[in-house]
Amino acid sequence: MTSPAYDPNNIFAKILKGEIPSYRIYEDEHTVAFMDVMPQAPGHTLVLPKSASRNLLDADPTVLPHLITTVQKVAVAIQEAFEADGVYIAQFNEPAAGQTVFHLHFHIIPRHEGIALKPHSGKMEDGAVLAENAKKIIEALS
Ligand code: 5GP
Repeated sequence: MTSPAYDPNNIFAKILKGEIPSYRIYEDEHTVAFMDVMPQAPGHTLVLPKSASRNLLDADPTVLPHLITTVQKVAVAIQEAFEADGVYIAQFNEPAAGQTVFHLHFHIIPRHEGIALKPHSGKMEDGAVLAENAKKIIEALS
């Protein structure tokens, strides 16, 4: 089965173009990271390539080293910023695997022993909380 084509009007494409706001914590030539608006735990962050691909399956392989480098950088900062016991990193391909937004992204979520994750795409977080969590990660990155 082949995947549908990339939709340039998906919500993350609009965020990348600055048409929709986000709590951005990191950006370089190839990648961007911002807060998930429906976090499964405080600090839940998304890392995206700037280049268009629906998910990992159709991604330009030359982008992937940049992407995983940013995933690592952000994961280390999140571990420090939230004093996490571990860091959960996830990436879904197509609806059957749980994907709901169709621009490639990795989820980075700090984990603490004994604390369960909230549901995926559950409840919208307050903007002030997202801003505060973004600030913590930015500080850990610098
Ligand atoms: P997926 O299921 O595609 O792997 O995850 C998409 C993620 O995007 C979900 O965790 C959801 O909470 C998040 N999300 C959906 N809409 C928006 C949005 O407009 N802004 C941000 N920052 N995150 C979003």
